Amino acid sequence: MTEHRTIAPNEDPVCGMHPDPVAARDRGLVTTHEGREYVFCGKGCLLEFRDDPERFLAPGYTPAM
Ligand SMILES: [Zn+2]
Repeated sequence: MTEHRTIAPNEDPVCGMHPDPVAARDRGLVTTHEGREYVFCGKGCLLEFRDDPERFLAPGYTPAM
């Protein structure tokens, strides 16, 4: 079982920002990983996360811009 750090429902796991989830969904800046929805501030973060989700969910990862 993979351990994940705690991420708020409206937290961008890549950079740590808190985008408006409604706006993020409107813009397609959401993705689902292991049954959970993650929101993103922009396409860059979304693509990075899709590339390697476990990297950003690892307990040792510190969100950075
Ligand atoms: Zn971001």
